[in-house]
Amino acid sequence: MDSAAPLITPSEVMEYLYCPRFTYFLNVLKIRQYEEKRYKVQKGREVHQQRLDQNPDYIRKKIPMLKKEQNVYLSSDVLHVRGIVDEIIYLKDGSLAPADYKFTIYQPYLYNTHKIQTALYALLIRENYQKPVHTGYIFYLRGGSKMHEVAITAKLERESTLAVVAMLKIIQDEQIPKRTSYRVRCADCCYKNICV
Ligand code: SF4
Repeated sequence: MDSAAPLITPSEVMEYLYCPRFTYFLNVLKIRQYEEKRYKVQKGREVHQQRLDQNPDYIRKKIPMLKKEQNVYLSSDVLHVRGIVDEIIYLKDGSLAPADYKFTIYQPYLYNTHKIQTALYALLIRENYQKPVHTGYIFYLRGGSKMHEVAITAKLERESTLAVVAMLKIIQDEQIPKRTSYRVRCADCCYKNICV
């Protein structure tokens, strides 16, 4: 991949996985989407901070951790990825783990988009810290704190990096990609009026 290629954020990868045309509208034409998702991200951070203020140890009860860093900006010219990790957790076995906070309701199943986002943060941490990263955590803050643990497998890493490569191709070629095959998504899409 061209070393001058842009750095993609894990959030943008999630948009791509929802529909590849999001990458074209957002990263090529630079048309911003509605603010609701950004509100949720911001709200998640605020709720997280409130809980930290109230009980700084609430996570420690769930994870075998030594310490953590918060809101860490990481980038990689190899992966072509950049982003702010909500938390980097130092686990007792010597490995590190990303933690991401979502202001959404916990579901018993784990969305593939969330797994891929977590894997990209894991890859960023591994490269920047030169430490093993086997696990990631996602906290769902609406309706009480619940957590999913994500195993960072070789298959998930490959799937994640291939998504970035596919996005970079869309950006470099400036060609509109195929629509999502889940056409039900178009009904609520913020780009539906310009997506022909
Ligand atoms: S309208 Fe449908 S195909 Fe077009 S960007 Fe939105 S989800 Fe994708």
